[in-house]
Amino acid sequence: MMRILIENCNVLDENSAHSVAENMNILIEDHRIARVTSSPIDGDNVDSKLSGKGRLAVPGLINAHAHSPENYLKGMTEKVPLELWLFDFFSSGVGFSPRETYVGAQLGAIEMLRAGTTAVLDHFWVNSGMTIEDLDAVMEAYRDVGIRASVAPLVEDLRPEMEAVIHNDPELTAHARDFESALDVPDYLDTLESFFQKWHLSEEGRLRCLAGPSGLQWCSSEVLEGSADIAARFASGLHMHVDETKSQALLCRELYGRSSVSTLLERKLLGPHVSLAHCVWVDDDDMNILAETGTVVVHNTASNMKLGSGFAPIPSMRERGITVALGADGSASNDNQVLFDVMKLTALVHNAREVDHRRWLSARDVMTMATRGGAAALGLTGELGELKPGMLADLTLLRLDSLYFTPLNDAFRQLIYCENGSSVDTVIVDGKVVVQGGELLTVDEDAVLSEARELWNITREKIAHLSDANQALLRGMEAYQAEQSAKDFHVSRH
Ligand SMILES: [Zn+2]
Repeated sequence: MMRILIENCNVLDENSAHSVAENMNILIEDHRIARVTSSPIDGDNVDSKLSGKGRLAVPGLINAHAHSPENYLKGMTEKVPLELWLFDFFSSGVGFSPRETYVGAQLGAIEMLRAGTTAVLDHFWVNSGMTIEDLDAVMEAYRDVGIRASVAPLVEDLRPEMEAVIHNDPELTAHARDFESALDVPDYLDTLESFFQKWHLSEEGRLRCLAGPSGLQWCSSEVLEGSADIAARFASGLHMHVDETKSQALLCRELYGRSSVSTLLERKLLGPHVSLAHCVWVDDDDMNILAETGTVVVHNTASNMKLGSGFAPIPSMRERGITVALGADGSASNDNQVLFDVMKLTALVHNAREVDHRRWLSARDVMTMATRGGAAALGLTGELGELKPGMLADLTLLRLDSLYFTPLNDAFRQLIYCENGSSVDTVIVDGKVVVQGGELLTVDEDAVLSEARELWNITREKIAHLSDANQALLRGMEAYQAEQSAKDFHVSRH
């Protein structure tokens, strides 16, 4: 058995002065936290000892919605709403090789670990048919960098918005057909099954697989139900996008005659094993369904703001008892994977819309979302997200002598409102030290960054300027979105 002892550290604790319990000792045995105590722990039998003096131990943060290929796309766009922002990239047909996928996922994992995020839910897309080589590459990246990861291969086979664009402008019909899905559903389901067989619960449980249908309106029932069946056979779950924009919420009502959430309920695709990214445009009935089914919502504050998607009704969700996790979303729409930024925005933005200050979120609420909420999205409720005996040993030690904790008044509030990730000193994932003294121990960080720059310098050149036909299609999509946005809807999220 591998034992790590962290001596004399400060532990985040809401019942202690300044939210810090001082002079604590933490014993980690293999993958789990064995003891958290103010009593001395005999250090003779441990494999390694870490000094916790001047350090604050907090549960590792969990990024519950990311798209690792977008780690190459940071800083690529602005002033563009969701449905249009990746059109240039996707219409160019540029894809990533398995090596690019591997390096891109490493890039994000390093960014996260360095800023105290110990687990990620990667809703992993490829810009061409998903192969097992692509999926191997992303899992190998997380295996090698040492972060905890659940990967949900994103898949879709329908484009209902395109039908609406053609309806508005029939001259675009021929060209829009080029964007029809070429997904071979049985082939995809075989790949998903192989992926689960090969990787689910690998690395002693640190790596997990989820099914990742892109969203209700973008997936046929064969894809949705086939994906859910495979996940169920492996006792895993589903991760998908829901109601990110008003346009999507309207489209689902047009397609199914009811909301997306009630359609998912009818199709038995909700529950504690299901996490839904965004849920910005859900209404009271939808939120009641999410609460009753125990479905997890992943709130992507920064991304929703950048894309102008609106403000999810997070205070209303929490008051109903809905478990809410936090996500950075892909770096094309955020543009980083630093959860401290997301936490601060989450703590602030809902105050701007809510006049009753008693309903505002506290720093403790936000920390719970970033830890226990994230654990629920990963299917690890009760096993991850708290610093106490029996839990998986994912934790971060921050320097209390940093600018952001000097002077120390309340550790919870300073974590949320002051810290930006720069006080992170040591990071432990699954009982292994992966960052120490601010340095990554698992892979050569400089080499990964250097290769990422080289690979992207070549690939970026392949993103062609939009053809005339694509520009016409983009204008058609823009007109359709404007038309949707102008329609009445019974809730407002702007
Ligand atoms: Zn997303």
